[in-house]
Amino acid sequence: MTSKDKNSPGRDHDRGARVESVLEQAETLCRERGARLTPLRRRVLEIIWENHAPLGAYDVLQRMNAEGGRNAPPTVYRALDFLLKHGLIHRIESQKAFVGCATPGNAHKAQFFICRDCGTVAETHSVEIGEAIEASATRAGFLVETPVMEISGRCKECHDDE
Ligand SMILES: [Zn+2]
Ligand SMILES: [Zn+2]
Repeated sequence: MTSKDKNSPGRDHDRGARVESVLEQAETLCRERGARLTPLRRRVLEIIWENHAPLGAYDVLQRMNAEGGRNAPPTVYRALDFLLKHGLIHRIESQKAFVGCATPGNAHKAQFFICRDCGTVAETHSVEIGEAIEASATRAGFLVETPVMEISGRCKECHDDE
């Protein structure tokens, strides 16, 4: 598969529909919690979901301002903090970048498969891994705060190319 195929209209269409449903889900979640998904926060979430790879805070800011906005960095940082707090996005520490959470609304320990070729990130939730981390942390007397694992490698589409 070439990189052109990966950006086929079908794929973009699926993604567009996906982003719409993610935004609706986020609206509902915030409403239930009495939080406000302001147009700015909503737009930040949308920009993150529209991108196929994790996006850094500065890239989010640039995209917002490319649309004619004049947002200052703190505005975007605050929006990102809000989205993180409500579990709508995750921060990929190794890339200092953000991805949308596919299962927002419930606290979860996540693992991320990060493709070093195309940059896509797939989120998975393995109960076994979560429990193994807890168990070894307990043995070490370590208090876990961010039980997130980032595993780098190559996604199916990229290693299928060979
Ligand atoms: Zn998640
Ligand atoms: Zn890949």
